[in-house]
Amino acid sequence: MGLWINIRRSLDQAVLHRERCIQIPTSAGRSDHWEGGWFEYPDKETALDALEQTGTTQQLKCPICKP
Ligand SMILES: [Zn+2]
Repeated sequence: MGLWINIRRSLDQAVLHRERCIQIPTSAGRSDHWEGGWFEYPDKETALDALEQTGTTQQLKCPICKP
């Protein structure tokens, strides 16, 4: 099961999502290291590690898909 992280540098926030979450844009894939964006990870362990390493103040889990 894949997971996605949405990084929003402007909000200093990163949010973890399940692969099929309705919030993930169909055009996901465009991302920018400084602005943020959507990043895909192959499993939860990898995604949680990546979430910690985003360096954002807020590291959240999506309330809709509950990853
Ligand atoms: Zn979600």
